[in-house]
Amino acid sequence: MRKNIVAGNWKMNKTLQEGVALATELKEILKGQKPNCEVIIGTPFIHLATVAEVIKGSVIKLSAENCADKESGAYTGEVSAAMVKSTGAEYCILGHSERRQYYHETYEILKEKVLLALANGLKPIFCIGELKEEREAGKQNEVVKAQLEGSVFNLSAEDFSKIVLAYEPVWAIGTGLTATSDQAEEIHAYIRSLIAAKYGKEVAENTTILYGGSCKASNAKELFSKPDVDGGLIGGASLKAPDFKGIIDAF
Ligand code: PEP
Repeated sequence: MRKNIVAGNWKMNKTLQEGVALATELKEILKGQKPNCEVIIGTPFIHLATVAEVIKGSVIKLSAENCADKESGAYTGEVSAAMVKSTGAEYCILGHSERRQYYHETYEILKEKVLLALANGLKPIFCIGELKEEREAGKQNEVVKAQLEGSVFNLSAEDFSKIVLAYEPVWAIGTGLTATSDQAEEIHAYIRSLIAAKYGKEVAENTTILYGGSCKASNAKELFSKPDVDGGLIGGASLKAPDFKGIIDAF
């Protein structure tokens, strides 16, 4: 049975102190609760080790937002998958459209990052999704297929099973525009069919596919009601504990 997940992506927001305060508040409001989904927060690198301590003993799990495409060595300013793992993080968001767009992360670079994350015991939350003009041209299926083939369909079935996918239409990220639940379901089902063709039905049925793009408490329930939408990757609405809790409660 695949897991339902609500994962936050703080992006480049919050100082260390603000991040600790947010993680503490979220821990407090989830205290004694048994959410019907796994809860993950994705934080900047500098928050990871401290936030790992804050959330100890709670239901909250920790993710990085990126890792290097090299193992170690003379790569000034980079943070390796091994370093991320050593903080206590379990997950690593990879392939976010902002990384693809602003930092020119190619299929090849992302393939390396995914392999290194897995080799170091991190579970990638691998993001895919089309641009507005690609959606308008009806090319969304073609785009997500190429993204999967370019960076994760090289994996063994065993490694692929450790991955969480996040379908994030770029036109919906941070824009207030959300895919309708029918649009999300249609492409999530298509993504699952691609996984089934590559790895078989069982792997496909067990793969968690999150939706991301202006997901908030008011639309989460409708999105999560769809059979192939297994939760959300949440940007803006993960920056306030009550908003994030509202999305967790959608399950
Ligand atoms: C994201 O960055 O992954 C995201 C989905 O952002 P937002 O929820 O703000 O659209």
